[in-house]
Amino acid sequence: MVSVAFINPLSVEGRQVVREMGNLDSFREENGDIINVVIHTRSQDISDEESIPHNYLDLAVKRLEWYIKKRNDPNFDYNKYSFLFNYKITRFDVISFYLLCQAVGVKFGPNSRESRAMVESQGKLMESRLSEFSRIDREELIKKILDSLLNDERVKWTFFEDILSSHKLKLEDLVMDHGNIILNKEDFIESFSSKIQHRDPDKIYNMMIGDKIKELIMNRMIMQKTEDYIYKVHQKSRREIEPNPILLELAEKVSNVLSESFTSYGYKVGVNGEVKAAPLNSNAFPPCVKLVLEGMKSGGRNDAIILFFTPFVSYARLYPDVFRKNVTVKVSDVDPNLSVVQNEILPLVYGAAEQCTPPLFEDQPQEKVNINAKLGFGMHTTVDLKHEGESIWYTPMSCEKVKLHLPSLCKPDKTCKRIGNPLSYYIRKLWESGETNGDHEGNEE
Ligand code: SF4
Repeated sequence: MVSVAFINPLSVEGRQVVREMGNLDSFREENGDIINVVIHTRSQDISDEESIPHNYLDLAVKRLEWYIKKRNDPNFDYNKYSFLFNYKITRFDVISFYLLCQAVGVKFGPNSRESRAMVESQGKLMESRLSEFSRIDREELIKKILDSLLNDERVKWTFFEDILSSHKLKLEDLVMDHGNIILNKEDFIESFSSKIQHRDPDKIYNMMIGDKIKELIMNRMIMQKTEDYIYKVHQKSRREIEPNPILLELAEKVSNVLSESFTSYGYKVGVNGEVKAAPLNSNAFPPCVKLVLEGMKSGGRNDAIILFFTPFVSYARLYPDVFRKNVTVKVSDVDPNLSVVQNEILPLVYGAAEQCTPPLFEDQPQEKVNINAKLGFGMHTTVDLKHEGESIWYTPMSCEKVKLHLPSLCKPDKTCKRIGNPLSYYIRKLWESGETNGDHEGNEE
């Protein structure tokens, strides 16, 4: 049977591996055992030396790189990372997990894009690894891990307070009876069979809970524990004088993996027609955006600022290639410390809101929260990395939607005939003025 540490490195078995691990300084030395597991993994690509981790640091970087490339690279090659799904990698994988958490905790802290990538990558890796097992093995592993995570048979929903408040899990994902979370079939039948008429309670159980919810809870609990561990490392590192240079070296590699991914797949390349993120050029704005900047005087004021203008300026400034790339990113992926959002985008949005008659925030100051939500930072009064992901970063409205919902804004000129989204208009104008190159039509929403 596979060790539970293959799925949950924070388990007792995983912690035991860490207790036995050697000196940190040896982790950048070539490790024949790691290489051996990798090259003997079925379907692993060994033709490219770059795909083979040679030591613990390489393995840690590959572990994160798998997630980033899988998410962003349209040419992602699974065979370069097959070893991550070979359970014989467990011991080395567990150590590389701890190294990554420590490097991220020491250098970047829990509210960083590096921490978020680490936590999300752990979630995805568990999910992908479990999907490779047979149903019986998967059920057994999940049961074993959940039993160790949930000490009591009956768990109150308040037990999941942290996961619920960090939005890793939604209350509506859970089935409850008198505040107790129902996970087992026996409990479900005991609680609900009298209320289920003319239907098979077993089938209803499988539909509402089954393995799906158990795996989700297990996954989110381990993600939360990963985040808590990074937080603990960070707190501890603040009391220490000098972090270990190995961890700083790894932290730098992690940061490079993240930055490279967005340079290569996300934005600001500027060759082959790709569009660089750059300061906004208001001369290239389409007629609809110029009208908003002049001030909304009639109906549609709130929607024009919140649903139309905020997504337009944020994408035009930070990720103009969104439709062509078709890669989902968060604001912090392209503006890591949110300085562009704070210093350029929000002032521009607030300025446009101020131009309205009556000024938007004068009678509805609470709408600032909605603006933050459209940028992906949830319903909060400030944009803060710790809330990012609670809502989605809205993509700019298509011309069709503008015509339907905000018809007074659409005063097309001749460039409008060739585009389907105000963002494409902006890019085309930049291209015509020589500020970018190439054809920029993409899959517009
Ligand atoms: S056609 Fe599109 S870009 Fe042109 S004014 Fe209308 S909504 Fe704006």
